[in-house]
Amino acid sequence: MPDRLPIYELEDSLVARFRAERRLIVTAPTGSGKSTQVPQMLLRHGLLGDGQVVVLQPRRLAARLLAARVANELGVELGHEVGYQIRFESRVSDTTRIRFVTEGVLLRQMLDDPLLRGVSALIFDEFHERHLYGDLTLARALDLQESARPDLRLLVMSATLQTRLLSDYLKPGPPLMAEGRVFPVEVRYQDTPSYTDRRPIWEQAADAFSQYVQAGGEGDVLVFMPGAFEIQQTLEAIRHQDESRGFVLLPLHGELAPRDQDAAVARYDRRKVVVSTNVAETSLTIDGVRLVIDSGLARIPRYDPYRGINTLLIEKISRAAADQRAGRAGRTAPGTCIRLWTEQEHAERPTHELPEVKRLDLAEVVLTLKAAGVQDLRRFRWLELPEERALAHAEELLLDLGALKPDTSPNAPHAPPVITPLGRRMLAFPLHPRYARMLLAAQDHGCVYQACLVAALTQGRDLFLRQVDKRVKEYREDLLGTEAPSDLFLLMRAWNFAAKNDYRVEACRKLGVHAVTARQVAPLLDQFLRIAREQGLDTQPGRFQDTALQKCVLIGFSDRVARRLDSGTLRCELVHGRRGVLARESVVQQSPLLVAAEVREVGQTGGETHTILSLATALEPAWLTELFPEDLTRDTRTSYDPTLRRVTAETVVSFRGLTLEQRRLEPPPTDSAARLLAAEVLAGRLKLEQWDHSVDQWILRLNFLHRHCPELGLPPITEEDRRLLVEQVCHGACSSKEIRDKPVKSLVQSWLNAAQRHLLDRHAPERLELANGQRPKVAYHAANPPHIALRIQELFDVHQTPRVAQGRVPILVHILAPSRRPVQVTQDLANFWKEHYPRLKQELQRQYPKHEWR
Ligand code: ADP
Ligand code: MG
Repeated sequence: MPDRLPIYELEDSLVARFRAERRLIVTAPTGSGKSTQVPQMLLRHGLLGDGQVVVLQPRRLAARLLAARVANELGVELGHEVGYQIRFESRVSDTTRIRFVTEGVLLRQMLDDPLLRGVSALIFDEFHERHLYGDLTLARALDLQESARPDLRLLVMSATLQTRLLSDYLKPGPPLMAEGRVFPVEVRYQDTPSYTDRRPIWEQAADAFSQYVQAGGEGDVLVFMPGAFEIQQTLEAIRHQDESRGFVLLPLHGELAPRDQDAAVARYDRRKVVVSTNVAETSLTIDGVRLVIDSGLARIPRYDPYRGINTLLIEKISRAAADQRAGRAGRTAPGTCIRLWTEQEHAERPTHELPEVKRLDLAEVVLTLKAAGVQDLRRFRWLELPEERALAHAEELLLDLGALKPDTSPNAPHAPPVITPLGRRMLAFPLHPRYARMLLAAQDHGCVYQACLVAALTQGRDLFLRQVDKRVKEYREDLLGTEAPSDLFLLMRAWNFAAKNDYRVEACRKLGVHAVTARQVAPLLDQFLRIAREQGLDTQPGRFQDTALQKCVLIGFSDRVARRLDSGTLRCELVHGRRGVLARESVVQQSPLLVAAEVREVGQTGGETHTILSLATALEPAWLTELFPEDLTRDTRTSYDPTLRRVTAETVVSFRGLTLEQRRLEPPPTDSAARLLAAEVLAGRLKLEQWDHSVDQWILRLNFLHRHCPELGLPPITEEDRRLLVEQVCHGACSSKEIRDKPVKSLVQSWLNAAQRHLLDRHAPERLELANGQRPKVAYHAANPPHIALRIQELFDVHQTPRVAQGRVPILVHILAPSRRPVQVTQDLANFWKEHYPRLKQELQRQYPKHEWR
């Protein structure tokens, strides 16, 4: 049978190309034989040497089934020559040559053994789906191939023709393409929009099945449903239809036991109906299908900003995915696809899914990459760069969780954060870092079971129905109580109740609990418990302390700590400068400090958005000190209050930018008070009465002398020194009143010692001693030469220009008339007497005859 698969057209060229090249792209439609045959070809033609080929698969179920199929075709036992490794199981041995793996398995292996010893080739299967781990592992593999492992062969396979993106990225030779054999598929839509049909989706699917069979439709049937629960319901509904007589009815999803998974792809004498998740879309081929019934829904992993994690929410698939699903009906003969939505609705669907790198939370992969030594994520070799916001958010969260810490090495001031030992321990958990951190904390606090339940409860949709009537409310209050230190405790009680009642819709409805959501918590809880056990944690559901669990929630969600702004409203301030409002229905109404496991943005009338904090847990401030000592800061904030004209201060304790405590500090710290007052003085808004002209002149004299006679070694007073002097004057004061009359002069002059002061008085004197006995005051300036101003009569007998600074600087003489009107400005008195004075004398004598004129 495999001999006739279309992929064999490519065998010769694939082998030839791969002998010569190290990178190949292969595209062929689903069912061509890529996943099962290409690994075997590499093995058969000796392209693997002694090593193995690792096939990266996006889905666990597919990895296991493909391994089983290949082992079967080769006639070997699964786990020997052919094996698989997925998140929760592993069947490989030393003899394994073809190994199918999923998700982070290969990336983690690259962490442990960066050279990937023993691996000769990597196949990236289903690459068109653009799963995050496919992108990242390919990037790392390219790095490896370009450095230590040039011999490593890389093969990228995809069911749809890739865009230029991949070719530009890989720079391989031209892609190898196989044409599949496809038969036409008739697509039928519904006449009325899906929202008008109030029947559950599985009943609609069962009806479509019956109509098809009644009309004489042939062949096997494949139904696409989003998840295990819907699949079970669909099988029930079909079983109730008379038309299902003679059909084998089979589920196919990841939660089935391996035996049941095998049953879905096996061949039967009778016709079969397989109800599957989107694993049958392109990853697995079910032969003989002539009818596809498509619910149009899938659980799509997506970042849920409300919970701050990646979740699987049921969403409408894209048009491209719907076309893939329809194609499953035309593999062996012409087929039919019934879509459970209208043509109009189809046109409104997105054409493609966004690649995961654009829609998932990156915290887990950022941590993995950091552990692999990729420091700068912005310079990582992304096939498509994620949004900066997503990278920054991931780093912030990992810093908050303690998985990363700022790089404090002095030669890298702006280096990106680095992984911590705690971060490496968290990485051992195949979970979102938020939960890895919470489970590690829970082990210390003796409440691993409860933490797993919290993790499971915060994954899916709301457990509680929102709009409930008074009766339900009262019943809830009776049964669950109205007081608890955490909304999560109420959720736990409600879920326990639902579980005890076997998730019966009636029982759940009475309590206003969403039965389907409650049911989905159980497998999640099992999954978390299994991971915890694998990591050696104690998962016994014993007694626990409320506060222990509260602390674990805090540790897992410490990026969402909030403080109530007042007791009158529900407004809160969050860490990192965000704001929000506590949900009205929260039971945590009394605690001023809380942590929210859910942060929801809701649009308000008027275009504003409101951030609602729900699933809240009360906190004691002391826990923050206990658990995050490094993230608490105690600052003293001082400021000058212009109305009070004084400095005020308060001490502020904050946690990652969230103010926890604020207290007035009296008196304010002297140093900052002096600094703030000095700033006001220097800006001219406050005045020191004693800092007068003579003080300024003293400083100017000093700086003048320093400029002209540096050898005297007098220390000048710079602008900065001046500020320090003003600060010294203000020291010990906190108000305008206290500094106004503070003494200044002696403090400023203490800048110089006695000997220096003597030099200053001698060489930059306050007053000059002139030959005629006059003692004029000298005015010093910052840029111009110093000057005196004297009437002509006061200058008689002074023949030479007086000089200062050891005779180096002639004084600028302002010569005044008897009326003190300036008549001449000169630095050359001798020349004045000789050249100008005779003429000036005649003039002035006439005006001032009573004065002496020589
Ligand atoms: P591709 O990867 O190109 O979609 P596969 O290698 O998965 O193709 O499958 C090729 C063919 O092998 C399918 O068309 C199907 O007939 C057959 N096949 C694959 N897996 C199984 C299986 N587990 N059981 C039965 N047939 C299978
Ligand atoms: Mg395949």
